[in-house]
Amino acid sequence: MLRLPKFEVEKPTTVDETVALLSEKTGDVMIIAGGTDLMPNMKHELFTPKKLVSLAGVSALFGIREEAGALVIGAMTPLDQVANHPLVAERAPALAQAAGLVAGPQLRRMGTLGGNVMLDTRCQWYNQTYFWRKSLGFCLKKDGSACHVIEGGSKCVAAASNDTAPALMSLDAKLTFANADGQRELLLDDLWKSDGIFNKKVPPSDLLTEIRLPQREVKHLGAYGKLRDRGSIDFPLFGVAVRIDIDANDVVVDAEAVSVALQARPTRIRKFGESLVGTTLGSPEFEKGVQAAASLGHKQCRPMPNVPGDHEYRHAMVPVYLKRTILAAAAGAGPVHAV
Ligand SMILES: Cc1cc2nc3c(=O)[nH]c(=O)nc-3n(C[C@H](O)[C@H](O)[C@H](O)COP(=O)(O)OP(=O)(O)OC[C@H]3O[C@@H](n4cnc5c(N)ncnc54)[C@H](O)[C@@H]3O)c2cc1C
Ligand code: SF4
Repeated sequence: MLRLPKFEVEKPTTVDETVALLSEKTGDVMIIAGGTDLMPNMKHELFTPKKLVSLAGVSALFGIREEAGALVIGAMTPLDQVANHPLVAERAPALAQAAGLVAGPQLRRMGTLGGNVMLDTRCQWYNQTYFWRKSLGFCLKKDGSACHVIEGGSKCVAAASNDTAPALMSLDAKLTFANADGQRELLLDDLWKSDGIFNKKVPPSDLLTEIRLPQREVKHLGAYGKLRDRGSIDFPLFGVAVRIDIDANDVVVDAEAVSVALQARPTRIRKFGESLVGTTLGSPEFEKGVQAAASLGHKQCRPMPNVPGDHEYRHAMVPVYLKRTILAAAAGAGPVHAV
């Protein structure tokens, strides 16, 4: 049986109290939201905080609302609510689908959108017990000095594995963080750095309070595709969110795709929209554009043996999932996943 190390829990009820607690003991203090990732990681001794600051009693961090045309989701909103909320389904279908594919039902009721955005990177050589990691000589990300994914590598390439991140990026989400100096807003694209040890530019002591999806000028369609071992629970082996903007005649005016579970940060597929823009949904030109976009994704998305699953198989699945996800978005359907 894996035991949790000893720790204290603080239970603030306001954002100000939370921020004060987090600025008190930087390093030894961690935020706990639903705890669905942090608890297993603490049992594996990947994190050994002396104190946890629970967000469960901070009511200001919960809920989904519209504000000046934007869709605003509190960081503590459970994934289950994100997946099933009518406003999210209508305004951000890829996000609703991605949230609905995180883990399994119990974990989606405990796990939060904020916790998903701030999720630690994952690697098959890292998300293991202390005993298992020790027998391998540990690794760069925790307690060791070598990487087992890239032999001789000096940089950790553990994978961003948060399903909602690509969907949020495809919708140009903005994040609000609070710390002792006040509040600041950040484009989600600007949160990441390509370092698997800690893939965020914002320190772990900053509190994510809400996620804001700006109002979009034109109509958009969206879907999320997720390759995983078991349809009922697993982390992504490859994930992709697609957004297609259309005009009143169903002509594509812009398109974006963002991938996850490949490298340390979720990544936009460059020039993804080029083959789709100007085509009409369902037309032969659109179908050709879909093939071209899937091939482009295959060239750019290069899985490494960081997360479980054969990386060549994962690579072969990239165009398959990309194509299915584009077609699902165009048909107002989705999500795309193995059952
Ligand atoms: C069996 C299993 C399967 C899983 N499958 C998936 C999956 O398929 N896809 C997936 O994406 N995830 C998966 N997860 C991980 C996890 O359940 C989700 O990512 C969940 O959304 C995490 O949210 P949480 O509220 O539980 O975060 P926590 O575990 O509480 O926190 C996660 C991290 O975020 C930080 N944090 C949390 N909230 C904030 C905040 N407001 N501000 C700043 N930092 C914060 C914490 O300090 C911690 O470092 C799985 C977990 C398990 C155990
Ligand atoms: S990629 Fe994996 S094995 Fe390599 S340093 Fe990072 S966690 Fe460790």
